[in-house]
Amino acid sequence: MKTHGSGIDPVKLDRLAQVAVKVGLNLQPGQDLFLTAPVAALPLVRLIAEHAYKAGAGLVTPMLADEQLTLARYRHAADASFDRAPGWLYDGIGKAFAANTARLAIVGDNPMLLSGEDPAKVARANKANSVAYQPALEKIANFDINWNIVAFPGAAWARQVFAGDAEEVAVGRLAEAIFAASRVDRDDPIAAWADHNAALATRTRWLNGHRFAALHFSGPGTDLTIGLADGHEWAGGAATAKNGVTCNANIPTEEVFTTPHALRVEGRVAGTKPLSYQGTLIEDISVRFEGGRIVEAQASRGEAVLAKVLDTDEGARRLGEVALVPHSSPISQSGILFYNTLFDENASCHIALGQCYAKCFVDGTKLTPEQIAAQGGNKSLIHIDWMIGSGQIDIDGIGADGSRTPVFRKGEWA
Ligand code: ZN
Ligand code: ZN
Repeated sequence: MKTHGSGIDPVKLDRLAQVAVKVGLNLQPGQDLFLTAPVAALPLVRLIAEHAYKAGAGLVTPMLADEQLTLARYRHAADASFDRAPGWLYDGIGKAFAANTARLAIVGDNPMLLSGEDPAKVARANKANSVAYQPALEKIANFDINWNIVAFPGAAWARQVFAGDAEEVAVGRLAEAIFAASRVDRDDPIAAWADHNAALATRTRWLNGHRFAALHFSGPGTDLTIGLADGHEWAGGAATAKNGVTCNANIPTEEVFTTPHALRVEGRVAGTKPLSYQGTLIEDISVRFEGGRIVEAQASRGEAVLAKVLDTDEGARRLGEVALVPHSSPISQSGILFYNTLFDENASCHIALGQCYAKCFVDGTKLTPEQIAAQGGNKSLIHIDWMIGSGQIDIDGIGADGSRTPVFRKGEWA
């Protein structure tokens, strides 16, 4: 197809906008929408606004971020700037969420943007931002409203993923990879998502029926027992927010996931893919847990950044998520390292350091933060997914009576 220089198929881009509004958000007539995106994603922002208004949106409010503006701060701002965040803005965003505004985030910026900047400044700015955003983020973590993340193939991101290609070729290849993973390479992506959600629901029903007390992961460099939180519930695919709207928070998604017990994780685990965190690639991560807490952490590259992440707060050393993804998942089989969690977490079983999701508890959206903590749910400013799956991982489900049930064998559902 002729694509007028951008390398991005306009038909599939329009379908992606429709999927974001109808499947990702399931935006309701009269509902407002708050949307964030990199400026490069403006073509997708415009299409999403168009489909949102056609679906009856009340008001679509976009907020765009620019890479050059971000770099200007790191290069020219006074030192004290790195402990600042626009709290007034986050307060407003929190108010919008409290008034049932839906939330959409378009990702697609340069994953290596800050790789040349002072890591201490990056960490301080992130922490100030996390603290200011926390009250609003809690409404997302507690699933008060329908929300969604989709991706746009920004040029700098595409050059990182397909380093050997000319820019237009790289953008075209990343666009096709995003479209395939987001199921908009089919004529009826809405129906394809309905089928996919049904398949994921079959897995979560099976896991919820077993009510495992723990999962045991074994593989090269890994011998890890992850206790599951009391009253945990497995989730995957479409889910219903507290405002009653059923949405697909992540486009794409291949995972089924639940909440580990913050105090009951024991053993050693080796990462199977590099972790791209705020411009730094952290490679060959290996950590050891005792009583749910990371007590040893190594990486062949980016170890200092990993250490800083783990020191964010007490909960940063504990798990907030465990997720199962078969090695045969389409994103895994594409063989592409996306340097972006939205995609890379759907290529592999993973765990997440930090904050848990309320929806991963039975009746979780009715529980208070105190009740969630009492059941073993972790609390932190961070939530960082980290890949531990491969074609060599076996997983057993361990019952309350100590019985073992095969869940994964050699990276596939048993
Ligand atoms: Zn996940
Ligand atoms: Zn996660």
